[in-house]
Amino acid sequence: MATVADTYTDPPSAHAGDIGHWIGGRIAAGAGRLQDVFNPATGRVVRRVCMADAAVVSRAVGAAAAASPAWADTPPIRRARVLNRFLALLNEHRDDLAKLITEEHGKVLSDAQGEVMRAIEVVEFACGIPQLLKGDFTEQVSTGIDNWTMRQPLGVVAGITPFNFPCMVPCWMFPLAIAAGNTFVLKPSERDPSASLLMADLLQRAGLPDGVFNVVQGDKEAVESLLAHPDVKAVSFVGSTPIARHLYQRGAEFGKRVQALGGAKNHLVVMPDADVGQAVDGLIGAAYGSAGERCMAISVAVLVGETADHLVGKLAERTRALKIGDGMQPGVEMGPVVTRTALERIRHYIDTGVREGAKLVVDGRGLKVAGHEGGFFLGGTLFDEVRPDMTLYKEEIFGPVLCCVRAADLEQAIALVNGHPFANGVACYTRDGGAAREFARRIEVGMVGINVPIPVPMAWHGFGGWKSSLFGGMHAYGEEGVRFYTRQKSVMQRWPRGLSGADFHMPVAK
Ligand code: NAD
Repeated sequence: MATVADTYTDPPSAHAGDIGHWIGGRIAAGAGRLQDVFNPATGRVVRRVCMADAAVVSRAVGAAAAASPAWADTPPIRRARVLNRFLALLNEHRDDLAKLITEEHGKVLSDAQGEVMRAIEVVEFACGIPQLLKGDFTEQVSTGIDNWTMRQPLGVVAGITPFNFPCMVPCWMFPLAIAAGNTFVLKPSERDPSASLLMADLLQRAGLPDGVFNVVQGDKEAVESLLAHPDVKAVSFVGSTPIARHLYQRGAEFGKRVQALGGAKNHLVVMPDADVGQAVDGLIGAAYGSAGERCMAISVAVLVGETADHLVGKLAERTRALKIGDGMQPGVEMGPVVTRTALERIRHYIDTGVREGAKLVVDGRGLKVAGHEGGFFLGGTLFDEVRPDMTLYKEEIFGPVLCCVRAADLEQAIALVNGHPFANGVACYTRDGGAAREFARRIEVGMVGINVPIPVPMAWHGFGGWKSSLFGGMHAYGEEGVRFYTRQKSVMQRWPRGLSGADFHMPVAK
């Protein structure tokens, strides 16, 4: 069986064998359950991952708590230097990470390389932490009194991440958290856990003190233990909406700060004046890239006005022509979905769509990829005449299924999007600046693209949806991320000479 050690250069020998946890700067196996990790392109088990129980979580949190005081005391500029070295190592090992991602997730290699690049951007942003942590100072708020604010780390913080971005989503969290002086426990997805250990190794090589970054592998059991642990001060979560909502509620019960990013149903509105070629390119890439397993994937095309029939014809041609196969092979545009369970769930949605009366224009069920008969492949699937009351429209499918919905005008399109409970991303294709402006202002969605199909904000802007796509007040990364991982302290000082007597009224500026 292949091991993590086989898949990247110059690994520490401790990485050989099953995928373990990373606690206090070393691999730890734990005595618990093991779960298979698959290569979705072949359907075969490539390795197994250790599943943490409460005892393992407790050891990891203990290591993070022990490392916390010294790391919080380390000047931000020195923390930034560690991140700078990590950045250089990430760049050096970009392809090693990408190969691990493709092997366990299934996305095509160029897409995995793009994911690592987007992760790197957050590390680049986190390297600016000395500037980001600068507080405010007001001299003479009252006679002889100054007031300033500063932001201090929380202590031990945890991150729980989904399968679809095993490198990028953890990097939305830990680089900023540790740059801000916290110590971190990551619980990655059990479906593609290897990238987490390679990042742990690179952090250690960058000079990060042991215990500042830890990884516990596992599932619900590890997550519940992290949530309940009194030393974990904050939890960042990215995953599906039911789990995000549950975590947010449980976190509140335990008095923790929680940001929980959930699922999505992203619409792309095509106005009648849009460039048809550009809109079709945008829809095909955003619907079928990464087999639709992106939280910013487009799953609904809202076709406005009379060009709709023409557009559906073009979309059908392009959907049928998708090059689908093993993501490691050059030229492949779409890989498999992540697990057999995901494959069956998506097929079930397609069956339901047909039963509920949507028009199945391109059917991806039954696709076979020669030489990869055991792989979890599904062809690109296109529905037309989908209505808002259909399951296909209401629920997140998270697969390569694009649903076309018709709207009479911009007003109707905006009302449709605003009526959906998910509100992660949205796009509008148009050549009319006035319509675009109106759309961006009135749409009730967290991230908006104008002629940009997947508007994932850059590292310094922050990422987050609205409504059922995000629970909690702050977005991931950017300055919101810095605020999430720090708490503000306000200090007032004066150095009086002599006595001025007790004041019994509310202090006011003098
Ligand atoms: P998931 O919710 O199944 O799992 C996410 C994490 O939660 C994993 O680490 C998993 O081990 C853990 N988990 C699973 N079940 C749990 C439970 N019952 N209790 C506690 N923890 C549990 O999500 P997934 O299938 O890994 O990822 C896909 C989902 O993530 C999609 O819904 C997608 O839209 C969403 N997602 C959202 C964003 C965003 O930024 N909003 C980004 C990426 C993915």
